[in-house]
Amino acid sequence: MQMVFQDPLAAFDPQATIRSSLREFTRLRGARTRAQENEAIVEAVLSVGLEPEMVDRRPSQVSGGQLQRLSIARSLLPEPDLLFLDEPTSSLDVSIRGQIVNLLLDLQERNELAYLLVAHDLRVVYAMAHRVAVMYLGQFVEVGSRDQVYADARHPYTRGLLDAAELDDPPRHGEPVRLVGEISEEAATKPGCRLTLRCPFAVERCEEPQPLRETTSGHLVRCWRAVEQPVEIGLPPND
Ligand code: SF4
Repeated sequence: MQMVFQDPLAAFDPQATIRSSLREFTRLRGARTRAQENEAIVEAVLSVGLEPEMVDRRPSQVSGGQLQRLSIARSLLPEPDLLFLDEPTSSLDVSIRGQIVNLLLDLQERNELAYLLVAHDLRVVYAMAHRVAVMYLGQFVEVGSRDQVYADARHPYTRGLLDAAELDDPPRHGEPVRLVGEISEEAATKPGCRLTLRCPFAVERCEEPQPLRETTSGHLVRCWRAVEQPVEIGLPPND
């Protein structure tokens, strides 16, 4: 497993050349000589669409988008099976984000990689994910395929997030949901549903612990009303 960090500038040693930072990762894949290290670096840098000469600069001498590409190249050097992507586009200009998403999708296909992506940008998640897990105050509240979660969100928190994001695609089912109030850390210590104070559908039973329960095959929700009373909270019935 390798990791791509949110802020590429903080992910490189500012005093070292990029080549020097990449070199250590070539050793993880077994490079033994300087020639083998340099060959692996050239291959990795070309695979992310950059010129190999760029690695002789320091991190502050390349743009944020280029540095994130170099960070991705570095993460690929040990030939991982899994890349953990921690908000890989959030520190970049909007104009660059799409390029990085496309690069990651392309690399995933070429290298048969699995990704575990953490992101707040719902458009990036939609573009990249096969399965989606939505978290609220440290708990998964909804888990499903990308299309189950985006087109047929069941948990009030997921529904509120998607409604606030105003995505054009895909079309959503169910009534819009407006969450009230602010996130409270205190709610994370309660045994019952952590959204109770903000949820327009909260009733007394919501104070009880809520397990993740399956609504349709592979689609899980931590909300008893979404499972037992979907129509009452503005959802189409479960299949
Ligand atoms: S369990 Fe109750 S408070 Fe929690 S999301 Fe469902 S309806 Fe809202």
